[in-house]
Amino acid sequence: MVRALASVDLAAIERNVALLAARAPSAQLCAVVKANGYGHGAAEAATAALRGGATWLAVSTAVEAQSLRSEGIAGPILVMGALSDDELEIALAANADVVAWSEYFITKLAALGGGRVHIKLDSGMGRLGTRDHELASRLAAAANEAPQLELVGLMTHFATADEVGDQFFDHQLEAFSEWSDGIVATIPGLIRHAANSAALLRESASHFDLVRPGLACYGLDPFGVDPAARGLEPALRVESYVALVKRCEAGESTGYGRSFIAKQPTMIAAVPVGYADGWKRVFSNNAEVLIGGRRYPVVGNVSMDSMAVDLGADGGGVAVGDRVTLLGADGADRILGEQLARQAETISYEIVTSVSVRVPRQYWRSQDGG
Ligand SMILES: *Cc1c(COP(=O)(O)O)cnc(C)c1O
Repeated sequence: MVRALASVDLAAIERNVALLAARAPSAQLCAVVKANGYGHGAAEAATAALRGGATWLAVSTAVEAQSLRSEGIAGPILVMGALSDDELEIALAANADVVAWSEYFITKLAALGGGRVHIKLDSGMGRLGTRDHELASRLAAAANEAPQLELVGLMTHFATADEVGDQFFDHQLEAFSEWSDGIVATIPGLIRHAANSAALLRESASHFDLVRPGLACYGLDPFGVDPAARGLEPALRVESYVALVKRCEAGESTGYGRSFIAKQPTMIAAVPVGYADGWKRVFSNNAEVLIGGRRYPVVGNVSMDSMAVDLGADGGGVAVGDRVTLLGADGADRILGEQLARQAETISYEIVTSVSVRVPRQYWRSQDGG
């Protein structure tokens, strides 16, 4: 019996990546494995993605690139995040591609002996990259001319790709196309890339030469609907077990703050998982779990290491030691990351990346699109 376990279906990641690659046939696929592969395990997710047809990997930090290399991952790795001088050295030592949006960074890169660089236009995200098209073009030219630097790509990132029908997406796409058209006309062979999962699934004009899906590789839907609708398979399941079953009389409570007080006698199961495992406190009286294929509500406040589930007056036949599914399928039913995200008023990205290091990861491969 495991207290808490995250099991990751590597074959599901592989099939998701193959499905996404097929949706973007004119582009290469760069699987985003930042944040420990969205909580799934970076090196394992990367290997599965490469098997599924990815030819690139992307991370956010230099240390993430370094650790992929230390796990023996070869091939191009793009570090997409901002890099301090120290971090740039780590990224270069990991033979990773880096992203530039300032003169300072290009100069620094040359001073460190050069490397492979992508220029980032801020076409509307308002975060990393430069909004200044002229500067972005000058940086591309400088990177192209500097002998130690290799200008590899031109990129941008969408702010609203997951908001279907939103016009700002089209505006960003147009701005990036227009800017990058001018550069690829004079510098051949550059890789243009813009699409995250939502853009990949939404608009083929955003695919360019390389797509950068993260979330969808793990079988989560960027639009927050059931991933099965697009043929995506959630790769992550999280489970625990029933550590204790006890009767709760009318008027008795469970958990800190007594936020659940039984109206009538009921049976309560204690599940030894809490917010320190990533089962957020916002799930207090606000989530469900599966036991024996049936849904039961989480009751009372989720604490650091424990939470309670209401089994109902008859206890549902649940016994100590029974498996509790917090995320994933049990029988015909399943708890989706998208559902938990709605309950937590967040996005599924935050649900999966919240599964903490205290929860061991176990890897397996399913046979087919089950
Ligand atoms: C995280 C990230 C992605 C992947 O986004 P998803 O929505 O998970 O597909 C792509 N590009 C950049 C720059 C990112 O930071």
